[in-house]
Amino acid sequence: MSEEHHPQPDVSMQSLRRLLVVFLLVIGCAVVLVNGWVVYSIWQRIVNETQNNARNLSQSLSRQAEDTLLPVELTLQDLRDRITLVGLDAERQNYLRTLLMERKASLPQLHGLFVYDRAGNWVLTSQEMLNQRSNNADRAYFKYHQQHSDLDLHIDEVIRSRTTGELVIPVSMRLNNRDGTFRGVLLATLRIDYFRQIFGYYSLGDKGLLALMTHTGNILYVRPFVDNLLNRNIANSPLFTHLLKTSSNGTASYKAALDGVERIFGYASLKRYPLVITVGYDKKQLVQAWLAELVVYLSLCALLLLVIAALGWLLLRNVGHTIRDQEELATARDRLTAINRTLQTLALVDSLTGLANRRQFDLYLDRSLERANKLRSPMALLMIDVDSFKRFNDTYGHLAGDECLKYVGNALLNIGLRSDDLIARYGGEEFAVILTDCGQEAAMKVAERIREVVAALEIPHRNSESAAKVVTISIGLHVMQSNQPEDRQTLIGQADKALYQAKLAGRNRVEILQ
Ligand code: GH3
Ligand code: MG
Ligand code: MG
Repeated sequence: MSEEHHPQPDVSMQSLRRLLVVFLLVIGCAVVLVNGWVVYSIWQRIVNETQNNARNLSQSLSRQAEDTLLPVELTLQDLRDRITLVGLDAERQNYLRTLLMERKASLPQLHGLFVYDRAGNWVLTSQEMLNQRSNNADRAYFKYHQQHSDLDLHIDEVIRSRTTGELVIPVSMRLNNRDGTFRGVLLATLRIDYFRQIFGYYSLGDKGLLALMTHTGNILYVRPFVDNLLNRNIANSPLFTHLLKTSSNGTASYKAALDGVERIFGYASLKRYPLVITVGYDKKQLVQAWLAELVVYLSLCALLLLVIAALGWLLLRNVGHTIRDQEELATARDRLTAINRTLQTLALVDSLTGLANRRQFDLYLDRSLERANKLRSPMALLMIDVDSFKRFNDTYGHLAGDECLKYVGNALLNIGLRSDDLIARYGGEEFAVILTDCGQEAAMKVAERIREVVAALEIPHRNSESAAKVVTISIGLHVMQSNQPEDRQTLIGQADKALYQAKLAGRNRVEILQ
């Protein structure tokens, strides 16, 4: 009963909604995760490609730098051998000068070739300005060779040429006397412009960095080229503090010591010379490239998420509607059930007296007959009619008549019959009583009591035939014996006849056909 009266939304619908929410969340998370992974993989790919590019480029540039230096080294060695062989006497100088000029002309990287004596004075030069005499004893490379006895090629910091004003890298060798004492210095100056040219071929983006450095961190050439960065020492960069100590070439990401910009670097030491090349790609530019690649992809993902969200919302709304519909249906169903009950009650109860109505009487009579016949038990039917009721109405009016019927009905209701007996208003001012499993004697007693109870109500009826001038009733009784089954027509017909007889006999009495 209570379930019907308090409609609950269908439990399975509620859990479907919860399942749907979980499902949508899982789908959403999966889309975000998968795409997050794809986006991250794309970034990884860009970083890997950049690392490879940086490594390859730094290695190929280091080889190019090596190719630039090797002929210069060989030239200086050759020059040293010849000077050792023929000396630097005045008569040899023309021959040597021609040689210097030829060599210089054949190597585009060369800015000039010079020979200094032990005091730092120019002895020979590939330049045309023969008369210009100068002393370079103050130059760092000169001092180096003065103080170091090794005969290897020495590469010093960038200087501005005293002859042409050009920026050059001094590459030098010590020149010894036969006894090994210091005889002077052989110098080749390399044009920074040459490096600018050969390194300029490669595109590195706006903030890409390319640098040629000594292994002590001194910058010889840097791109983008800014004069005041030359000779800057960046020995504190991770390249020199860590990376080069473990590997002569590789790749790493760090903030450039020069400008603090985060880059992905490739680096390579030259095999033959104490120089290092680094190539760095700006990370911000990579991020931009990455984002540019992602725009379409991420837009599609966002669209997908929006579609999922929209579909989910629609589904949830539909489920919500279904739940609401169900609730409404349940409420409507309960209302109908209640109305139905009321209708059933109305259909079976007489509205004036509250007794069973004719319809209920008919149904109950059929059922009682069936039962009595099956159990072979007796049953009794009492037909009751109010005496001279037409006159009552005529005397007191119809409303009073109705009140009278109510009183009589109430008295019958309170007579205290068994629960399976039935008292009904048969129609008009007639009532009927079904007494199940009841023999003649007991039925007579009940009928008599009913008659007495109504008379005892003492409802005044001044035009009544009764001596007491009160409302009375006549009762026709018929008993169906257990061994003589009868149908309802017979039963009612017999009781009616008995009633008719009671009326004829003077009313206010109980009659039974003999
Ligand atoms: P008797 O049965 O004693 O022979 O006389 P009677 O006057 O009762 O006879 P009859 O059956 O001819 O009249 C019944 C009257 O009962 C007719 C009708 O006006 C009245 N009646 C029937 N049903 C109702 C009702 O529901 N309310 C009222 N006030 N009167 C009713
Ligand atoms: Mg009547
Ligand atoms: Mg009557």
